[in-house]
Amino acid sequence: MAYDPGNVFARILRGELPCKKAYEDEHVLAFHDISPRAPVHVLVIPKGAYVSMDDFSDRASDAEIAALTRAVGRIARDLGLAQPGYRILSNIGGDGHQEVPHLHIHIFGGRPLGRMLD
Ligand code: 5GP
Repeated sequence: MAYDPGNVFARILRGELPCKKAYEDEHVLAFHDISPRAPVHVLVIPKGAYVSMDDFSDRASDAEIAALTRAVGRIARDLGLAQPGYRILSNIGGDGHQEVPHLHIHIFGGRPLGRMLD
């Protein structure tokens, strides 16, 4: 799927829409979900134009991949989630029920989250 530069996260990255920022570095932006499904619900996105993890894992540089991976762990630790734990999730494509076509990793925490597919 071709990347759509009009998607909502691209607009957040360009500063056209506001967000409640949780973290930012050269390659990554993280912000709180507008419709949180847990007491903590943060979205971690690459600054590059990648549709999904499928696209990112194929085209992104090692530096971008390292930055995203390290950012997820760092954000979770900074938010106090490492103990008692949290969940990360990335929806991909139609069957994955991905709504926004810019790669994002959800971080959920702040309550017991139950079994994965409940
Ligand atoms: P997906 O289903 O694509 O994995 O999840 C998209 C997520 O983006 C949803 O949890 C939704 O609440 C969130 N979202 C959609 N639009 C906005 C927005 O404008 N700002 C923020 N902060 N989150 C958004």
